[in-house]
Amino acid sequence: MATATTVIEPKVKVTATKLLINGKWVDAASGKTFPTINPSTGEVITQVAEADAADVDKAVAAARAAFEKGAWRKMSASARGVLMNKLADLIEKHAEELAELESLDNGKPYQVALAADLQLTIACYRYYAGWADKIQGKTIPVQGRYFTYTKHEPVGVVGQIIPWNFPLLMQAWKLAPALAAGCTSVLKPAEQTPLTALRVGELMMEAGFPDGVVNILPGYGPTAGAAIARHMDVDKVAFTGSTEVGHLIMRGAADSNLKRVTLELGGKSPNIVFADADMDKAIEGAHFALFFNQGQCCCAGSRLFVEEKCYDEFVAKSVERAKKRTVGNPFDKKTEQGPQVDQDQFNKVMGYIETGKKENAKLLAGGNRVGDKGYFIEPTVFADVQDNMTIAREEIFGPVMSILKFKDISEVVERANKSVYGLAAAVWTQDITKAHAIADGVRAGTVWVNCYDVFDAAAPFGGFKQSGLGRELGEYGLANYTEVKTVTVKL
Ligand code: ADP
Repeated sequence: MATATTVIEPKVKVTATKLLINGKWVDAASGKTFPTINPSTGEVITQVAEADAADVDKAVAAARAAFEKGAWRKMSASARGVLMNKLADLIEKHAEELAELESLDNGKPYQVALAADLQLTIACYRYYAGWADKIQGKTIPVQGRYFTYTKHEPVGVVGQIIPWNFPLLMQAWKLAPALAAGCTSVLKPAEQTPLTALRVGELMMEAGFPDGVVNILPGYGPTAGAAIARHMDVDKVAFTGSTEVGHLIMRGAADSNLKRVTLELGGKSPNIVFADADMDKAIEGAHFALFFNQGQCCCAGSRLFVEEKCYDEFVAKSVERAKKRTVGNPFDKKTEQGPQVDQDQFNKVMGYIETGKKENAKLLAGGNRVGDKGYFIEPTVFADVQDNMTIAREEIFGPVMSILKFKDISEVVERANKSVYGLAAAVWTQDITKAHAIADGVRAGTVWVNCYDVFDAAAPFGGFKQSGLGRELGEYGLANYTEVKTVTVKL
């Protein structure tokens, strides 16, 4: 049991619950609100204004006006960078408060939110603030007496739809490159976790962002989200979420104005452990790769391939480690794992655990609910998982580890690639040749060698195959927020 000394009492007060449109906090046109729930208790934290199509229209008009005329349009690129740095400073100043709010609304451990989510969020705004005045085109030596150059112009009004697993960080991944490029945004946080996005909206106003540059619309996917994806005056939509909704977003763009689309979707990432790996590091690394963030990571190492020679030892030690994982109050400093984000996700994960059992995967740890309120699930480990089992093919998005056995390199590469997804992969080995063979052979947007979930604002991230379209972060992420204009002058 947790002792009082390790539990933090959250002091945060919810201050922003309305829609941010054109620099004002407003109610939804319909007057509707929806509850946001504390996943540790199942209780309502507060009611939040619920945006729908009419609010999206207003927000897009404000973003269009800010893009076409007004202070944002006239602001120099370096001044945009200064504003973004101011925002980063304000987020840093309020880091503890934001980590509390994130933990309350999402369920992730407070300590993790502070050490990981907040630090990466701040770094992302600072990284792209540095880019604002360094976005430049080329001069091109064309044939004939012409002078040809390119300009990288902002793509325009962007719609940004984000998920609930890393609310603050996903907001930064979306807003930071868009703002650096000079775009304006209509951003919809996930309905499960709107609170930190709105609080950052307040900080943006405090930093001095002009009206309409960033509009924040909490609401549901099929209503507010779909209205953004199908809007005729949105130039680009950037989406992070499920592959299923990714298809809908693309269809929305195709059926409306062919807006640019970037998608960061699901995964079923292979994490490959060779017998020559540093075993303790591989076991801890594989544990982290799967269980981090309650297993709610699109790049979770959810197909854990272990070489036959070390399989039994690896499975036994992984089970031991999973059983030691501390699950409970996110505000207890000792907690490694909080609740799943909501009842739907809880049900979905429990359903996959049942399917795993039915399909005869070997359940060696967990498998049950923890406690009788909130959405806590035991760290669960299945061994002897076969490629064709549902739990080896579909994204579970929860604390459920699936361990598969392999014999050799070419076999494991082929099996790793037998997936509709291609977001990430990892390999654990001391043999540089094997490491490179895996890095070369797997079809995935990111490959980690002897590490996992190492993120940096400068390093691009995104998927092959149905894991997505385009890249986020780094220079590649920025490129998706610009249009290239070619100018040719007769000499
Ligand atoms: P999950 O199943 O993990 O909740 P989703 O892909 O459903 O993931 O949600 C990610 C984001 O996409 C959320 O902000 C959600 O509101 C939004 N969304 C869901 N359905 C749609 C839709 N039909 N059109 C646009 N956005 C949607």
